[in-house]
Amino acid sequence: MRAPRRGKPPEHWSDLDAATRRQRVVEAGLPAFRAQQLSRHWYERLDDDPTGWTDLPASVREAVASQFFPRLLHPVRTLGCDDGATVKSLWRLHDGALVESVLMRYGVGRPGTRSTICISSQAGCGMACPFCATGQGGLQRNMSTAEIVEQVVAGARTLARGEAAGGPGRISNVVFMGMGEPMANYASVMQAIRTITAPEPDGLGISARGVTLSTVGLVPRIQQLTEEGIPLTLAVSLHAPDDELRDTLVPINTRHKVDEVVDAAWEYARVSRRRVSIEYALIKDINDQAWRADRLATVLKRRGDWGWVHVNLIPLNPIKREPKVNEVVYTRSREEDMAEFVRRLQARGISTTMRDTRGNDIDAACGQLAAEE
Ligand code: SAH
Repeated sequence: MRAPRRGKPPEHWSDLDAATRRQRVVEAGLPAFRAQQLSRHWYERLDDDPTGWTDLPASVREAVASQFFPRLLHPVRTLGCDDGATVKSLWRLHDGALVESVLMRYGVGRPGTRSTICISSQAGCGMACPFCATGQGGLQRNMSTAEIVEQVVAGARTLARGEAAGGPGRISNVVFMGMGEPMANYASVMQAIRTITAPEPDGLGISARGVTLSTVGLVPRIQQLTEEGIPLTLAVSLHAPDDELRDTLVPINTRHKVDEVVDAAWEYARVSRRRVSIEYALIKDINDQAWRADRLATVLKRRGDWGWVHVNLIPLNPIKREPKVNEVVYTRSREEDMAEFVRRLQARGISTTMRDTRGNDIDAACGQLAAEE
């Protein structure tokens, strides 16, 4: 048995690639073929109780459970809204850190129901965007690969057991839009994506095209992602077309400027042939002026007009925060300003949609995840 990693979460099956899993199984004195058996139970049958895995010798089940499948995510609370179609889970990690994930079902009661899970990649976030609840608490730590993967496994299990509104189902989409900046935890996030997209039984078998990674725009990491050649969807949280404003809304902009970020996103689209999504939260009288819509269109169209980009506008979700003296107050744009913003982008031929505000009343919507008990 291996010594626990001090300070780090215990090693878990979901931290390992298929070759390492075989190695660990052999180190534990079991034949290598057991590795696939274990993966089949975990990712295909979504069964989280190794003591009931009857195709394993009874004498090793306990050891397999504690060595390979230690519980990483301890459920603290789940909250539902939208008639059960949105479920937010609060998890406690081994060291007490708290994170959240949100499961959303679309088209319940109709054929072709889809399910998206929004997951966290860090406990807290160090990017300090002033309008985002997660950004207010600072960064606690990076999550491990398995802590990331297990959020998806937990969601898949909830769906498979028919515990979510709309009956049994499968995860169709995974979005890294929960807590944290995924590009700041690059290696663990990439390894997690490999397991999430690995065909069963080695992973969850979710299509890479169904995975969206959202970033504030860490340019070197976007470039690295471009080289990986994994056909993910890249989303970039732009929120302003000009550096002067973006410096205040997305502080990392003081290091990676709008033009650099948009260039890196464009290059990702060019190489991957995947359309990039630009995220833009509409904030009243801050970034929602008609001239800024025009400016955004210009910034995006400078890179050519071949449909490389899609703009996803998000009506700003309210966050709980202590009011401070002289602080700018961020609130949702007026309906007419949002409509004009959409109209201007569409008039310039830019594919644009307005995101729904799922989970608003349980603080589960974009930017509201604070993981408070
Ligand atoms: N750190 C990454 C991943 C988080 S994704 C990123 O920023 O892209 C969460 C998305 O919700 C981001 O696009 C973020 O800018 C947006 N967001 C944050 N606070 C929000 C709020 N109060 N209302 C609406 N969207 C918000």
